[in-house]
Amino acid sequence: MLPLFHSVALERQRCKGCTNCIKGCPTEAIRVRAGKAVILAEKCIDCGECIRTCPNHAKVAVADEMSCLKKFTKTIALPAPSLFGQFRGNSVSVEQICQAIKLAGFDEVFLVAEAADQISVATWLYAEEHRLRPLISSSCPAIVQLIQVRFSELIPNLIKLESPVEVAAKLAKEEVCRLYDLPPEEVGAVFLSPCAAKVTELKGPEGQPGAYVDAVIPINVVYPHLVRNLGQVIDPDLRITASFAGFSWARQGGEEEFMQDFVHVSVSGIHQALDVLADVEMGKFAGVDFLEVQACPGGCVGGPLTVVNATLAKTQLEGVLSRSRIRERPQEEDLHRIQRRYRKGLYHLTREIQPRPAMQLDEDLTQAARKMTVMERVGASLPGLDCGSCGSPSCAALAEDIAQGLATESDCIFKLKEGIQELAEELLVLIKQVPSSMPPETAAAMEGGVINHKTGDGSEGPCN
Ligand code: SF4
Ligand code: SF4
Repeated sequence: MLPLFHSVALERQRCKGCTNCIKGCPTEAIRVRAGKAVILAEKCIDCGECIRTCPNHAKVAVADEMSCLKKFTKTIALPAPSLFGQFRGNSVSVEQICQAIKLAGFDEVFLVAEAADQISVATWLYAEEHRLRPLISSSCPAIVQLIQVRFSELIPNLIKLESPVEVAAKLAKEEVCRLYDLPPEEVGAVFLSPCAAKVTELKGPEGQPGAYVDAVIPINVVYPHLVRNLGQVIDPDLRITASFAGFSWARQGGEEEFMQDFVHVSVSGIHQALDVLADVEMGKFAGVDFLEVQACPGGCVGGPLTVVNATLAKTQLEGVLSRSRIRERPQEEDLHRIQRRYRKGLYHLTREIQPRPAMQLDEDLTQAARKMTVMERVGASLPGLDCGSCGSPSCAALAEDIAQGLATESDCIFKLKEGIQELAEELLVLIKQVPSSMPPETAAAMEGGVINHKTGDGSEGPCN
């Protein structure tokens, strides 16, 4: 089943049809047609790679604005761990950033890092319980979508646990509803997100019946509001309940912190992830227990909706954490509580993650076979240069588009040139042809190119 909503969208008026974005898209989901980019919804995985690569800022993430806070009686901010890497570490602490979030208009703050602690422990328990290997983290929604679209055989390997933000939203809402004696619909849980894929997941999550998150504001939208309020007096009651391990989910390798008892591997960046998943599918990762795969370079700190460079954010995060009162790991009593919740199934996804057959040519097998024949014939006739000037990312993609009736062979400039040459040769032949009714001397004059239009007989006629 297709997601009903994609966060990544095109701002048509900004698009110059330059085709820069079509090459970097990991699922070949972009075409340029009539001078504008088009995103194929069934193939897009919301990785945000095109947001990074478009030189004209024509690709954007559709998300919520700060004004969404007005819709609720009370609001809870759910800051992603990567938010804390956006500030210079030598001057701020987690406590100060949380205070700035409150001053920006939120009533409460619940750290997603705290829920990440819980999912870290739950993942360890899950790996102990399940024998299938390698288990693949489902924390990056772009990777989950990539597996659905391109590597559906690996769906069983995905760890079927909720994402930290969903767990955070559920726990925070329960707490705030109790605290203020309000019904859930009056309490808004707002995720401060580094990426577009999270927006898509939370607006229409895969594998979960209902979302607890009510709105998603990109980090780069909330950031100016926080900077303005940094350095204000800190609420003395503010207690950081998340551990260093939970915050480390912001960067590549963070999820591995709790998986030291297992053989674990991490990879980040969508193209590296593609290579790794292709190798996993071919059985080349035998012996690996746990695989952390993140679409953004360096992990969530490299999300397209963040403010600073991923490498800088990783270093800054360490600085911010070192200035904060944070413990290394969840405490013993927390571990027991998480274990009890796990045993009750409170972290488990309740619905299967389904394949999204975006690469299928047609649901009808006869039609699919016919299209495949067209695709092979056309594909063999294309130059194989993958130049992208046709508006499709590769010659194979153009062949598929032609088979699907979405493009024509003349979209390929080489085929167009060939066509023009053939036409020119045909014209030459036609020019030399004469109607059979024409007298032979006129035909001969025409062939010689000396037909006189006044006399029509090939004679030179009067000279003036
Ligand atoms: S990179 Fe893509 S979206 Fe951006 S202007 Fe070029 S064609 Fe349009
Ligand atoms: S978000 Fe990713 S998958 Fe979707 S069109 Fe952009 S690059 Fe392609």
